[in-house]
Amino acid sequence: MKAFKPNAAVSSSTTSENIFLINDKAWLRLKGRLCRSKFRSRFKLGKSEIEYLQTRGMDIIQTHAFDFIRQRLAPSMPRNDGKQTPMKGHPVFIAQHATGTCCRTCLRKWHGIPEGTELTGNQIQYVVSLLMRWISENAQITEGEKP
Ligand SMILES: [Zn+2]
Repeated sequence: MKAFKPNAAVSSSTTSENIFLINDKAWLRLKGRLCRSKFRSRFKLGKSEIEYLQTRGMDIIQTHAFDFIRQRLAPSMPRNDGKQTPMKGHPVFIAQHATGTCCRTCLRKWHGIPEGTELTGNQIQYVVSLLMRWISENAQITEGEKP
């Protein structure tokens, strides 16, 4: 039996347990599914979100992503589930809508994560890694474009 590692907390943003992060193939497959959804694909980072990213930096954004997912998505019965993620105001919110991680229904539909149970640390890590990947790709695409 493996020894329990007390330090294997998912709060660490520099986790070495990359096996739970989405691999390139799965990411491309997911993006293919998402871009066929009119609703998902209309979400883009605007000028203010790009500025927010540039002034805060990706590490801070990732900390926010962990906080939002833990508080708003991870509980077995999240408060206001289905309406807990605003449509704007933070790059992470936009990324959640764009990646189908805005509520527990979407998490089940897009990622096969069942409703009604608390998210595990690995599932939280998975969602955050999706969000950060989407944000970093879309920050580059939008840069230099008119809002
Ligand atoms: Zn949703």
